[in-house]
Amino acid sequence: MTGDELPNGGTTAREALEMHLVQALTRCELAAVRDHLEAAIRHCRDLPPTPLVECPLCGCVGLPKRIRLHDCSWRPGHD
Ligand SMILES: [Zn+2]
Repeated sequence: MTGDELPNGGTTAREALEMHLVQALTRCELAAVRDHLEAAIRHCRDLPPTPLVECPLCGCVGLPKRIRLHDCSWRPGHD
């Protein structure tokens, strides 16, 4: 486990954002809108990598999405 894996085959929010922007760009016919989309994609690519977070319960570190979904090893007994 590197902590960077996305076991669900999912993408990070940034990857999803960039994907949607690129999709929008390919269907955009207005030059003014196109300029904004291209700028948005550039900013998107300039963003720092998704920061890793630590699970407050078990201390496991990983991407926020992964930590939210992870099989937490900390168990408060039964539900
Ligand atoms: Zn945990």
